[in-house]
Amino acid sequence: MERWVHGVRVRGVEVDEATRCRHYHKAEDVVAIRFPCCDTYYPCHACHEETAGHEAARWPASRLSERAVLCGACGTELTISAYVAAKDHCPVCQHPFNPRCASHYELYFELPSEEVCADA
Ligand SMILES: [Zn+2]
Ligand SMILES: [Zn+2]
Ligand SMILES: [Zn+2]
Repeated sequence: MERWVHGVRVRGVEVDEATRCRHYHKAEDVVAIRFPCCDTYYPCHACHEETAGHEAARWPASRLSERAVLCGACGTELTISAYVAAKDHCPVCQHPFNPRCASHYELYFELPSEEVCADA
């Protein structure tokens, strides 16, 4: 299925109006990721795996300035580096994001793990 969230098309499984999905549906799970393989936003890697029909690609470290992270609360498309730097909240609307390393940055972005999990 797909849903338009703040004017942005998000594909996935049971996507709600703030980009939550069947797999991640807590209050703070309001982030969708644009996958570089298909240039499409999905709420999570499992949504991509179940509905895209192809292998997911990750953003290389050289492209972290791409706007590839959608805040489902305010609709801002954040750059990957802004998202990673903000860690647990939206830098624009301050809505809490899921702060766990278990949000699996490494499934989406090629980042040095020590950078991502430094204060986890
Ligand atoms: Zn894809
Ligand atoms: Zn999902
Ligand atoms: Zn926001």
